[in-house]
Amino acid sequence: MGDLKKIICVGCSLLCDDIMIELKDKELEHVYHACSKGYYYLKSLNDSKRHLKSQLKDGNEYKDLEIQDAISKAAEMIKSSKHVLIYGLNNSSNEAIGTAIVLADKIGGSIDSSATYYKGMAIQQILSKKLPVANFKDIMDKGDTILFWGTNPSSSHLRLLSKYVVLTRGELTQKGKEDRNVALIDIFKTQMRRLSDIFLRVNPGEDDQLLQALIDLIDGKPLQAEKIAGIPKSEVEDLTSTLKRIDFGAIFFGSGLFNSNLQNISSLITLVNKLNSDTTKISMIPTAVLTNTVGFCKIMLDKTGSVNYDFDTKSPKSLIEEVGNGNVDLLILVNSDPFEHLPASITEKLKEIPIISLTTHPDLSTKHAELIIPISLFGLEHGGTLNRMDFTEINVQGCLEPPEKVWSEEKILKEIMNKL
Ligand code: SF4
Repeated sequence: MGDLKKIICVGCSLLCDDIMIELKDKELEHVYHACSKGYYYLKSLNDSKRHLKSQLKDGNEYKDLEIQDAISKAAEMIKSSKHVLIYGLNNSSNEAIGTAIVLADKIGGSIDSSATYYKGMAIQQILSKKLPVANFKDIMDKGDTILFWGTNPSSSHLRLLSKYVVLTRGELTQKGKEDRNVALIDIFKTQMRRLSDIFLRVNPGEDDQLLQALIDLIDGKPLQAEKIAGIPKSEVEDLTSTLKRIDFGAIFFGSGLFNSNLQNISSLITLVNKLNSDTTKISMIPTAVLTNTVGFCKIMLDKTGSVNYDFDTKSPKSLIEEVGNGNVDLLILVNSDPFEHLPASITEKLKEIPIISLTTHPDLSTKHAELIIPISLFGLEHGGTLNRMDFTEINVQGCLEPPEKVWSEEKILKEIMNKL
């Protein structure tokens, strides 16, 4: 039997705190209680493909660099650039995010992340309109109704239902799932259907019509049409009755709701505000996939008032705007792979910009990087604070020594800043 340690998994924004790992000769032998996603994240510690040395592109090859030389090279690249964009950080600690913002401010650069368009807007609206966000413990204890709209946590957040909000038992929900209504709105039958008491199959791109119908019914206006967004009127009326009976509820919503129309977030807020009262408390929680999307957006909103920002023009600017306008001549990626998630029209432009990538493993973006600086594995080799999907701040401790000269994002960014 190896050395057993209890850790918090940072494989997704649920930050499960009951994970056990077994170490033998510094190798991760076993992982207990994690879902498959967490297992693969933690097991990547010993992945033979992991970056353990800094590398600088030299023609078609990469040559190894000492970490201090890599830091000097990064500082040199920043100094000789006109406009630097720092991108990523959704999987980094709040401390690293804070440091990146200070760096972007110091060099008059920009900062952005993959949360910019959808999740970021949702989080911004929730925070700016000061909507209630219940934490998982409250939902576990009191949640009588849970609605999932345009999201499929049985694929994206594997332990959300079993550990936090549906199958668990709490103070007022001693029978677990039997004490809760679970409703699902989606364009197709996902695995979530099996756990849902109510399922409304909405036509693609017509969520706004359903939202308006629910708002009308709550305002006492009867529906005229027999079908709304492909759903029979009686089913919409039944869902409205369920929503009106809520004492303590939560609405988890995902890209399926707002990808087609960002206005849907505002409409959902209107609906929730109409339902909330002295006796009814309903929270909205965006199902952000990346580990610390909430932390990134929260800190950016605190420091800049926006989820993306250009410190040169002192205005919000996204990567797509900055790169589209040809403003960026150096891109610093922090634990992010934009070549994997941005449209080809943008990644083609990124290929023309020198890239510094702070990363754990090779990915599509590192193939185009000029300079690669390895980072230690968050949650194992370094710790920090993050915000869980329910906005709760969680402190994560590292429990292993990182490989020699492999540092956290925070330390690398600070060292670069010291050289400027
Ligand atoms: S659900 Fe997320 S935090 Fe929990 S074990 Fe899986 S990957 Fe890790």
